Amino acid sequence: MSDLKQFTEEVREFLKDALTPELRRAGQLCAGIYADKPVALEWHQILYKQGWITPTWPLEYGGTGWSLEQLGIFERELTLASAPPLTPNATRMVGPVVIAFGTDEQKEQYLPRIRSGEDWWAQGYSEPGAGSDLASLQCKAERDGDHYVINGSKIWTTHAHFSNKIFCLVRTDNSGKPQQGITFLLFDLDTPGIDIQPLISISGDHELNQVFFDNVRVPISSLLGEENDGWTVAKYLLQHERGGRYATRLGVKLDQLKTFTAQEPDGQGVALAQNTDYARKLAQAGIQLEVLGAFEQKLFSALSAGETTGSLSSMLKVRGTELRQLVTELTIEAAAYYGLPYQPEALAYGSNVSAIGPDDMLTAMPQYLNDRAASIYAGSNEIQRNIMAKAVLGL
Ligand SMILES: Cc1cc2nc3c(=O)[nH]c(=O)nc-3n(C[C@H](O)[C@H](O)[C@H](O)COP(=O)(O)OP(=O)(O)OC[C@H]3O[C@@H](n4cnc5c(N)ncnc54)[C@H](O)[C@@H]3O)c2cc1C
Repeated sequence: MSDLKQFTEEVREFLKDALTPELRRAGQLCAGIYADKPVALEWHQILYKQGWITPTWPLEYGGTGWSLEQLGIFERELTLASAPPLTPNATRMVGPVVIAFGTDEQKEQYLPRIRSGEDWWAQGYSEPGAGSDLASLQCKAERDGDHYVINGSKIWTTHAHFSNKIFCLVRTDNSGKPQQGITFLLFDLDTPGIDIQPLISISGDHELNQVFFDNVRVPISSLLGEENDGWTVAKYLLQHERGGRYATRLGVKLDQLKTFTAQEPDGQGVALAQNTDYARKLAQAGIQLEVLGAFEQKLFSALSAGETTGSLSSMLKVRGTELRQLVTELTIEAAAYYGLPYQPEALAYGSNVSAIGPDDMLTAMPQYLNDRAASIYAGSNEIQRNIMAKAVLGL
């Protein structure tokens, strides 16, 4: 048996026992981008005990040393087994920046707790007046002795209500260009003066929040990197946020949709998957996913070789989210009127309420609605196109 086959067997064997039926069901029914904390933490800790929670980290910090092929296999097997999708805030975002920019003390303080799941992180970048134009952010931090005093607010802060930590961009100087004078801080969300308010999305989920800071005092040891040079840290982190990892998950979803539509009548005498128009759309989505998968491999190679990936991650962000939305649109078309009933009880973790309509289509509408945001978050697709226009086309 080849090494990769053996590795695949090892992952499958692990998932067979570790992923309980409840966790699989929670993974199948996850309508949001990531599983809510109770489910996510349970799964996170299982992967942690196995030593597989941060496979892409350098070995000395708890990575697995897997090759790109092994990482791809791991990702695919998790998706095939319906493992709950885990938020990247800690393991794929703040973790890599602490490794790249943190002092030895910060690495010791944060990395083990990210891996164990003891700390749950939120991302404090966007503000009501600073999203696409992130550099115009105004949430202010002023030095007062050995503390920063923070005032202002952050918005669209995913899972802040589940988190005990936040990594936050704050303005420490207003005198230069907007990109200068930004500082990257790491601190506790239970610090006095922080107020987290929910924002309920169109799908009815509570994933997002606005976080208010009123004279919040955090120690200067919260600083990651240099004061006023947080933009460098922020950009490094965004590369990880915008990276690939769409193709595998979407490929599995498309396969599931093909299986479902192979049995679903189109109303004109054939199965939906055989309907000429629908079959063409399925085939086009499949081809585009193949291309995306190849680009993702290119991004992973560059990242693992320590290269900056620049506009490649923008390219993948645009194509990945467009295809994500396309797959949800094809799913809604297949669900037809079964997409309409609002069924939060059937979707709840541990629920025994059965679905109205086919079980496979229970998440069709919430996922469709939730994924409208995919072309906005992590930097809107229009902004990614601007980046590509400048960097690739020189416009
Ligand atoms: C589901 C979700 C989760 C999120 N999670 C987080 C989080 O955890 N932490 C966090 O910090 N942020 C988070 N965000 C915020 C996200 O990063 C911003 O929404 C995004 O950067 C866009 O900013 P904005 O909402 O202020 O829109 P705006 O910047 O006001 O843009 C509005 C529209 O104008 C377009 N536009 C703006 N400027 C230009 C331009 N120069 N050229 C062309 N078009 C332009 C945009 O593309 C967009 O369509 C999240 C957002 C969503 C939707």
